[in-house]
Order: sequence, then C-alpha cells, then structure tokens
Amino acid sequence: MVKNFLIFAFFSFLTISVSVGISEINKKNYELNKLNETEQSYKYQEDTKEDIKEDIKEDVIKNASIAVVGDLMVHQWQMDDAYDKNTGEYNFDYAFEPVYKYLQNADLTVGNLETVFAGSEVGYSDYPCFNTPDSFLDAIKNAGFDVLTTANNHCMDKGINGLFRTIDLLNEKNIGHFGTYKSQQDRESVFIKDVNGIKIAFVSSTYGVNGINIPEDKKYAVNILNEELIKKDIERASQENPDILIVMPHIGNEYESYPRDVFKDWINNMINDGADIVLASHPHVLQPMQYVKTDMSGKTAFVAYSLGNFISSQRTKPRDTGVILNIEIEKKNDEKAEIKEISFIPTWVQWRDTTGAYNIRVLSIYDALNDISQGNNTYLLRNADISRLKEAQKESYLAVTGNNIENTFEKYIISNEAN
Ligand SMILES: [Zn+2]
Repeated sequence: MVKNFLIFAFFSFLTISVSVGISEINKKNYELNKLNETEQSYKYQEDTKEDIKEDIKEDVIKNASIAVVGDLMVHQWQMDDAYDKNTGEYNFDYAFEPVYKYLQNADLTVGNLETVFAGSEVGYSDYPCFNTPDSFLDAIKNAGFDVLTTANNHCMDKGINGLFRTIDLLNEKNIGHFGTYKSQQDRESVFIKDVNGIKIAFVSSTYGVNGINIPEDKKYAVNILNEELIKKDIERASQENPDILIVMPHIGNEYESYPRDVFKDWINNMINDGADIVLASHPHVLQPMQYVKTDMSGKTAFVAYSLGNFISSQRTKPRDTGVILNIEIEKKNDEKAEIKEISFIPTWVQWRDTTGAYNIRVLSIYDALNDISQGNNTYLLRNADISRLKEAQKESYLAVTGNNIENTFEKYIISNEAN
C-alpha cells in the first residue's frame, strides 16, 4: 500500500514537474511570440509609414520660361551701322546687347527670322528682297536665341538656294528652326524642343512668299498656309504628345493695329485643331495679346495676333516698337502642362544717338526711361527719343491689352481672363 502510494506520488510529481516545465516553455514561447508580434507590428507600422511616404511624396514640378519676339529684320541702315570699314566685316552684336538679360535669362528664346542668308556673292540687300550678312545670325545666337521660325513672306527672297543656304547656316550655328525645309522628310518631322523636361512643339506657316515661285518639285521648302496642310501639321505635332503646342503663323494685314475677322478665324481653327498658343507675325506693329476661348472646343488658348517688329529700320510709329513676350509654363507630375503667367516687356528700336551717329539697337523702354530718371543717359538718347519712349510705353500697352496705363513698369502681366 505504502509502495503503491509512493509510486503514485512519484508519478504525480513527475506529471506536475513536466506540466510546470511545459507551461514554462509555453510561457517563454508565448513571450517570444509576443516579442515577434511586437516586432512584426513595428515592422508593419514601418511598412505603412513607407506606404504613406510613397503616397505623399513631393510633387514633381517642372518649369519652362519662353521669351518670344517678333520680326528680326535688317534694312540698309543697319548694315551700314554694323559695317566696320577697317576689317570689312559686319558685327550686329551691339543691336541686342541692351536686352541680353531678357533674352538670355529665358530657358528658350524664339523669334521670327524675316530675311535670308544667301551669301555675300549674291549681294546684300533690303526691301523688297532681303539678303543679310551671315554675322547677323551670330548676333542672334549671341543674344540668346535658341529657335527661329523661318516661314514668312521673305524666306524665298533669294530663291530656293537662298532658302537652303539659310537652313544650312542655322544648322551650322546650332539654332533650331521650323517653317522652311530642305526635304519632304524634314518638312514632315515635328520640331520639338525639350525645355527642362517640358516638351514644346512648334508649327509655323506663312500666307505666302511675295509671289515668288517655289519650284514645283520642292513645294516642301515652305509651309504655305492652307487649311488642309496646317490642320495636318497641327495633328502630326499633337500625335507626338507635346506638353505645349505653339503655332506661329505669318499672317495679318501690315500696319493694322487690330486683327481682321478672317485672321481671327484662321487662329480659332488652329486652336480647335490643337494649338495651345498662337503667336502671329507680319503686320510689323503690335496687336492684341489675350487668352481666348473658342466656341467649338471650349478650350482656352493664348493668342498674340501680332508680335510687331523686334528690330528693323522701320521708323514710322508704331513700327519702332515691339515686345519681349514671356511665357511661363508649369508641369506638375504627369498632369497636362499649364500656362502659369504671360507678361511682356515693351521695347523700342533706337535710331540715331546724341552724337548724331546711327546706333540702331533694341532697348527696353523701362530700362531706358529709368536710366534717364536717375540722371544718366547711358543710351545716348536725344530729347525727341525720350519723348517718344514715354509715348511708346503707353502706346504699346494700349495696343497689347486695350487699356491705358499711367505707370512705367519693366513688364506687364497679361490678364488671364479669356475673351
Ligand atoms: Zn512679313
């Protein structure tokens, strides 16, 4: 009996011990599991944090500033002014130097090249058929211009060879160009400029080439404005999915301050077809610049009906005035790029200076007047020039915006209310 009890007690002890042992182990396991769980939980939280971080990662904002000017023209007076009789060479750099800061600060600078470089052998000339020394293109390059539209009524002034040589020279100087071409293949490739990761496509065309004959087998050489062709060109450019599509038509009536309905219709069609910005030239004077909403697509686009002259020897006012138009583009992440702000800097072409000599160059009207008000005369302005500058500032503002101003500012922002 005692023996039985002892055996029972022994087994009981053993069972309890094992049980306690097991529960100890279980407890440890439990704690270990708990620890793991906590770690897991920490890890989980970390992951979640990563996910959130992923979700609220900074927006990628890209910006591009574009400076655009109107007609780049060279008349005899400018050639005489640029000619150095000691070296026998032409240097036009001084013509843009006063506005370098505006042209060079933009990410992309654009102008309308309204002449050709047919070479000295052909003889330099001005109106009605222009041929300009090659060094004018050096001055354009040095001023900061990156791309030029070449589709205008003067591109055939020295025939197809003059047109082709101009393209060769633009390529040699590494200046982008569109509107005239050396082959059908070139004509059909879309001109796109990547500016800080923003793709900007350009299309241009001209109403005509002053009645000069474009060879039958080289019709691709000039983009002639034609409903079907411009529509196709805009469509082709759209297919490349640019962030912004800029169309630069050479249309309008010379020396008129307002666009006629026929030109407005052309431009509205370009917007309906896909243009985001239309920058027109040819009238040689400034015309309204505004946001427009088209009836058909309901889309808002920006239009400059005429950018005016940037440099020329046309002195009849207001042909002596122009603007540097600044277009600020912003692109957020993969969203469609937007026009953030458009402003303009009124410019004026100086003619003779206080020494009586020609000094044909582009000035910012604000810079020139500001310099005078500080008691200087850095630009050697005659009294008549100072009066003209004051008048030109108001005149240009009125031509572009339709409003009057009292104050002289460096630049004016164009209201983004659509007309
Ligand atoms: Zn023209």
